[in-house]
Amino acid sequence: MGANNAYLALGYACNEKCRCCPLIHKNDREKFIPLDRLLKEADQIVSYGVRDVTLSGGEPTIHQDLFQLITYFHTKGINVHILSNGERFSDKSYANEFLELQKNGVLTVTTTFHSWNAAEHEYQNGSQGSFLRSLQGLQYLDRNGVQISVKHCITANNYRQLPQYIQFVIGAFSSQAEIQLWGIDLNGLERKFAQANFVDFQLVKPYIEEAIDVFESSGRAKDQILSINNLPLCMCDCYYWKYFTSPKADSYVDHKKGGEIMEANSGPLSIHCQKCPFYNSCMGAYFSDFDIFGNNIVSVPKEEAEINHFQRSFKFYTEQAIEKMVFSPYLNHELRRNGYTITNYLSGETIQIRLKTKEILHLQKMLFYGVSLDELILCLNEFGLNGVTVVDEWMRKGVIE
Ligand code: SF4
Ligand code: SF4
Repeated sequence: MGANNAYLALGYACNEKCRCCPLIHKNDREKFIPLDRLLKEADQIVSYGVRDVTLSGGEPTIHQDLFQLITYFHTKGINVHILSNGERFSDKSYANEFLELQKNGVLTVTTTFHSWNAAEHEYQNGSQGSFLRSLQGLQYLDRNGVQISVKHCITANNYRQLPQYIQFVIGAFSSQAEIQLWGIDLNGLERKFAQANFVDFQLVKPYIEEAIDVFESSGRAKDQILSINNLPLCMCDCYYWKYFTSPKADSYVDHKKGGEIMEANSGPLSIHCQKCPFYNSCMGAYFSDFDIFGNNIVSVPKEEAEINHFQRSFKFYTEQAIEKMVFSPYLNHELRRNGYTITNYLSGETIQIRLKTKEILHLQKMLFYGVSLDELILCLNEFGLNGVTVVDEWMRKGVIE
């Protein structure tokens, strides 16, 4: 079918009552789906040839047959991912049984922390004492080799605390834990509630950038994964884009619809996106955000677009400019999620630099009009790069001359 992942909900019972839960007002849903039916659905999922399955709910760990289901998928060679609030793992005997299952196959856990602050986390999920239970449960799994992901949805209530949140995750978990920042899916939520929780992406910008600065200055960036999901590139300076997930993410099969590929619920849907040079690299936002708040929640990042529109000039090969460094005339260049990429199309050599937008624009301008070698090295040093090494590489690769 082409999809490599599937969801299976074990029922909608939960031991928390999150304010943002789309299921909380739906009393018509089945609380615990019996094992025989789950196994039938599991059989169907296996028949689609998926590589991974994500078990969710409600809260899957309060379903009495969760372990049997995990074992079933493992015997079929399928990796299992659990979406859980993590509270149950604070019970050591339960957590130890769970750890045993790891011997048979890949088993990972993703848990949302609404805040680094216990009172705020518990205000959001209505479960007293849950912060410590989830924290201790997840730490136990983390210490014992389970791949955990610590998820955080950015809302109007918590966006100013993003730097503290990252500090909390770094302090609480090993570098094996993945840090995931997400937008908020407003689908199924009351309009009033959606309005109170959605936050303008431009308001988030300074806080998310500072949060990533905290992450990078902690020294963790070398070996820990931080990902930004279902959020638009235009909410950050291009320097931070490498953390945004690619639109070519996993696809999910919908076993309830005979194995159809599940429709996407996020993307660059605004009319502004259609003329954005970063359309193909951008996850956009949840469709529900556009449905409720319209096209103008995103806009083409003007300065980043300017980087791509930069044109080289050949008019500076003059007597006066002969000593100056300029861009080679044989270049293709593009701002990508991983940095500013320049290729000399004659030699096929490529360089990539990761700098802030204003710094790239400044470099472009300098190398357009011509700059002395000393000035160029000094400027690169000021941008935190090793000017001598960078200039050496750029000259060797025919990017500047
Ligand atoms: S933990 Fe998940 S299923 Fe339970 S109330 Fe919160 S969002 Fe809903
Ligand atoms: S305008 Fe649209 S495509 Fe461009 S960065 Fe923003 S969300 Fe992405």
